[in-house]
Amino acid sequence: MLVGAAADHSPRTATFAAYDAVTGAALAPRFEEAGPQDAARACALAAAAFESCNELAPVRRAQFLQRIGLEILELGDALIERAMAETGLPRGRLEGERQRTVGQLEFFASIVREGAWIDATIDPEQPQRLPARRPDLRRRHISIGPVAVFGASNFPLAFSVAGADTAAALAAGCPVVVKGHPAHAGTGELVARAVRGAVAACGLPVGTFSYLPGTTAELGAALVADPNIRAVGFTGSRAGGLALARVAAARAEPIPVFAEMSSINPVILLPGAARRRGAQLGQDYIASVTLGAGQFCTSPGVVLVLEHSQTDAFEQAATAALHDSAAQPMLTGAIQTAYRRGVDQLLSHPGVECLARGRPGAGAQPGQAALLAVTAERFMSEAALRQEVFGPASLLVRARDLQQIGCVIDLLEGQLTTTILFEPEDEPSVAALLPHLQRKAGRIIGNGWPTGVEVCHAMVHGGPYPATTDARYTSVGALALQRFLRPICYQNLPDSLLPAALRSDNPLQLPRRIDGVLHAS
Ligand code: NAP
Repeated sequence: MLVGAAADHSPRTATFAAYDAVTGAALAPRFEEAGPQDAARACALAAAAFESCNELAPVRRAQFLQRIGLEILELGDALIERAMAETGLPRGRLEGERQRTVGQLEFFASIVREGAWIDATIDPEQPQRLPARRPDLRRRHISIGPVAVFGASNFPLAFSVAGADTAAALAAGCPVVVKGHPAHAGTGELVARAVRGAVAACGLPVGTFSYLPGTTAELGAALVADPNIRAVGFTGSRAGGLALARVAAARAEPIPVFAEMSSINPVILLPGAARRRGAQLGQDYIASVTLGAGQFCTSPGVVLVLEHSQTDAFEQAATAALHDSAAQPMLTGAIQTAYRRGVDQLLSHPGVECLARGRPGAGAQPGQAALLAVTAERFMSEAALRQEVFGPASLLVRARDLQQIGCVIDLLEGQLTTTILFEPEDEPSVAALLPHLQRKAGRIIGNGWPTGVEVCHAMVHGGPYPATTDARYTSVGALALQRFLRPICYQNLPDSLLPAALRSDNPLQLPRRIDGVLHAS
């Protein structure tokens, strides 16, 4: 079954199934594999839709985004039940994720309406300027062009077909072609229908949105290589993100790939916090590690403690909580296999101690939690200990002193988040560590846990490589829109030929910067 502008009715030979994450059983129906030809058709339709999408007035664009949200809600419980079966995630989590998905679309609708993203800027002609006249210069942002989106396995709604990347790209006026994640093919298809319902209801061109279900690397590569695609949004593995970035770079006309990939999200426990509330923090740590079977890009993979501070209460509480934690189903058999291999590899390193394993659990692909410990010396000497293990595992790293914690941070790769747990008496230490943390991460969290990402104006869900391929942006929050825009300047064009955003009478009532001065709408 194919959804999207790429659908055709020619006979297909290849089909695939989605699987129940708890039982491992294949779920009906089977889905028809999209192939490179489908990708080419979808991209051609996206290119044909580009002008309409790009020039769609902000108010209509906002209505379209909101309509997608309504169509998703109209799918009702069928969507939640299908997502539960395919991912093993509990109802409450998926209902919350649906709310976030719809809220994200509403959020971008409000940004689009407000119009500041257009960055309308006018430097009027200065005919008398010496030594030479200044021409009339007017700048705005336009859409970058059709965008390919790769949905993430771990957020079947909020980071998938109508998730963060799709919402940001549509808000920016870009047609979108989604490569569906095969781990939640049925969920993806339902949401794709909802988006296409919104496209039709809003009278937009059919190529505004297409959905390509499939399981082959060939399909994803063909999509990224298609000359009509102008940018890529991706969330997933480092190997997958880099493979697609290589395809994008090898094109006759290379394009940007905004890939969010791998992060171990270090947490630093300072002595005041360990002393005053170590037991509570130990429990909270494990709740964060095991949330959603640890399948969060912001899962705390490493906690740094000072070995001579009072961390006993923290360690004991964490060890007990992890020992009691029940294994939850992982998203796919492949992810569980990679997780088990990752934990085994960590444990095979000399000096890595197993503090606790969680309860083993039943079902097709349970994720048994693991809490390991190692010294900072060893952690620094073995790069393999600093790699992401996607799942409910975390490594407690014991450092000699604050300076050594700084050295550990300096050695880490780029991160989505770093977290620091402190009390007022620890503030000088926090101040000393902040420059190290700023160099490494997109978000620095004080006294919290990294799992949980707000959709808001100030959020940065990004960071230096390999957290993402481009540390200047975020995949969550208002700044996510900027990835899919480009500036364009019009010199000496008369009002009659200028886009509405830049006409002298400001028909869209946009906030604009005129001759360097910001004017509210
Ligand atoms: P993935 O394997 O990277 O797949 C993500 C998407 O990219 C899928 O649609 C996949 O298509 C496609 N893809 C992957 N490699 C490709 C290639 N070489 N060429 C073309 N397309 C390609 O990620 P996943 O399935 O979601 O999870 C696997 C691992 O990714 C996890 O074990 C974890 O390490 C990591 N992960 C990280 C995050 C994060 O937020 N940092 C989130 C989820 C997963 P096909 O499946 O059809 O090949």
